[in-house]
This record gives sequence, structure tokens and C-alpha cells, in this order.
Amino acid sequence: MAVQTHASASPSLTMTAAEMLRRPGHPTASEGWWCAYSQEMHRLIPQLARSIPATAAFRTGHIKQVSSCRQCALRYHTELERWADEAVASAPVKRTVVQTLVVKDRNRLLPVLTRSTRGAAAHTHRLRREALFELFSSVPLAKDEELILAVEDLFETANPLSHDELPSVTEMMHLPGILALAIFCTGRAQQSFLTMVDRMAANPSNPPRSLHAVVDVAITKILAATKHRNQTSYVSSMSKGLEAVIKTCAEDQSQLLSRLQCKQKNFSSRAS
Ligand SMILES: [Zn+2]
Repeated sequence: MAVQTHASASPSLTMTAAEMLRRPGHPTASEGWWCAYSQEMHRLIPQLARSIPATAAFRTGHIKQVSSCRQCALRYHTELERWADEAVASAPVKRTVVQTLVVKDRNRLLPVLTRSTRGAAAHTHRLRREALFELFSSVPLAKDEELILAVEDLFETANPLSHDELPSVTEMMHLPGILALAIFCTGRAQQSFLTMVDRMAANPSNPPRSLHAVVDVAITKILAATKHRNQTSYVSSMSKGLEAVIKTCAEDQSQLLSRLQCKQKNFSSRAS
């Protein structure tokens, strides 16, 4: 998976959804809407959340792009996060758009990740592998309870990603959903994701994108776990993984670490 962005070929900042539909895209073209026209697609994000006949073809085209190309999937989830931060829209409008898209994405990915999915084994395996990579690209999806249950169930019988299919350490740095899955999953799935986090933490280069957002979520989760004393080992393994990742983050490292250590201390004193 190439994680570098393609040079943007956006011809105009006023392109409409109808004009985008006339552009070539995956799976027939090597460049897709998100990997080639991310600025244009960023502006069209609200159109993706609308369930009206006029935008149906645009939405179908968008799904083809993110399902056929990891770079498109990563750009889409990155731009959605950026749109929620930067778009000139009221907070309720932003919330509605983001929530609508997260629900649509969950409903699209859930059947693929559900263990009972039928079909030719190789085809099912490929679809699942790509769906997992999409979860790795998105913290909101990696936190979704229904998707987490499906992922936990998948990992219970066999690892759905063979060793050769695991993302490289460089790729993992751009996939914040891995850390979120390590935090939110339990059982074998959590062990697999913690192993990936360990590999990521051992790499001294760039920290994962959205680290701050993930750390905030993790701290909230640690706080919630303090209510259940039998979760000591869970909190300890989660904190260990997080601490290792935070240490790779030069910016605000001490602030993040002290927040995490404060929560750990809180937990230890309550659990003892
Ligand atoms: Zn693409």
C-alpha cells in the first residue's frame, strides 16, 4: 500500500458532484476520485451524506473508489476528519454529516467483516482484508461497537490477515485506527493489534496521525475502566502500548505522558 499522496490533479475548486461523476475513477482507472482529486472531494463531502436520488450515483461512485483503492480510503477518512475540523458549517450540521457517513460506512463494512459471510474463500478473504485496512484508516470506524464485535469474532478463530498482508511499520504510522482497535478490542483481536502497536512504537520516526485524538479516547477508556477493578491487566496492557506510542511523538510528549501517568496512578490507587 502506497501511503504517499498523489500530486493533486484537481482542475477546479468549484467542481460539482455531477462533474466529478464524469471523471475517470477506480476500478477502471489507476487514479481515483480521492487519490487524484482530494480537494474537490473534500468540498463535496456533504453531498455524500445526502440520501436523495440526485446524489445516489455520486455516492455509488465514491463507494467504488474507497472499496478499490487503499489510498482513496485513507484520503477519504483523513479528509472527513479535516472537514469536521475546518468546514464552514454549524456544529450541528457537521455532526449530522459525520454521523451519517460513519453509519453508512459501518453498514457497508459490517456484512463484509461478519464471519458468516458466504462466497468463494479467496474473494471473501480479499474483501475482509480491504475492509480491515479501511478500519485502520478511521478512528470513528475503529471505535464503532458493532464493527468491534465483528472484528473480535473474526480474530477468535483465525487471524484474517496473514503475515505478508500486515501493514508495514511505515504504513501503520498513517493508520490511526490500529491504535484505536488495540484500545477498544478485547481477546485475540486486541493481542494482534497490540503486537502491531509494539512494532509501530519500536520505530522512532513519525508518530501516527491523530495521536492526540486517540490518546484522549484512551484516557477516557482508562477512566471508565477504573470502575471495574478486575480490569487491571487490561488497563496495564493498554497503557503500555499507548505509552510506547506516545514516546515516539516528539511534540507534546511530556504533556501526553504525564496525563497518561496521572490516570494510571489514579487507577492503581483505586484498584489496590
Ligand atoms: Zn485511489
